[in-house]
Amino acid sequence: MLLQYILKTSVLPREHEQLKELREATKKHPLGPMGVPPEEGQLLSLILKTMNAKKALEIGVFTGYSLLTTALALPHDAKITAIDMDGSYYEIGLPFIKKAGVEHKINFIQSEAHSILDKLIQEVKQDELFDFAFVDADKNNYIHYHEKLLKLVKIGGIIAYDNTLWLGTVVTEELVDPKYPDIVGILRDYVVKFNKFLAADPRIEISQVVVGDGLTICRRVY
Ligand code: SAH
Ligand code: CA
Repeated sequence: MLLQYILKTSVLPREHEQLKELREATKKHPLGPMGVPPEEGQLLSLILKTMNAKKALEIGVFTGYSLLTTALALPHDAKITAIDMDGSYYEIGLPFIKKAGVEHKINFIQSEAHSILDKLIQEVKQDELFDFAFVDADKNNYIHYHEKLLKLVKIGGIIAYDNTLWLGTVVTEELVDPKYPDIVGILRDYVVKFNKFLAADPRIEISQVVVGDGLTICRRVY
């Protein structure tokens, strides 16, 4: 109810036309619900603009809703490195990204992300670290992404993790509702462990926000 109200009042009337079209095109895809919802996109956009981000990293692109959101929020000369092991989803989103005129900001890398991050850690100069990273890929590996991203995102920068409420299953003590696919139950314990880990990690400040499927926003302290 409240979400419908928020969408109708504050989100959908302001959604960029190409984001709306990309969202419509993604709906037809069987994995459509994986995309970041518009109310979460709006929050990410506000964070990116408020912090004046210029260099961003995205892990888990799918058809590109969060990527196009990021590209629209960043200034003309900004750069986003976006990684997904499946390039076919990105093909669906690319026409909308082009139409929005922001393709030049994006460096899309089709690969499994862990090896790319290792490579970036080797290459990146300390004065060229990322301002912002958005993680929305393999939940069982969030903990490994975290260690790598603390080397790639600058002090004061933001690392945001998606789906940290995992369809609400983080609070179900018993078995996960059988209406969900098996993967939900398999990944649940990883998400719960990861949330505990972040809550106790002194290297970051955090805020876990009830938006979409849960977004944990971390600010690197040291
Ligand atoms: N942020 C996207 C949704 C991402 S869905 C949006 O707003 O639409 C998760 C994506 O992560 C999928 O496209 C999947 O291919 C990708 N992925 C999963 N594990 C990965 C890995 N280890 N490396 C790179 N990409 C991965
Ligand atoms: Ca997600």
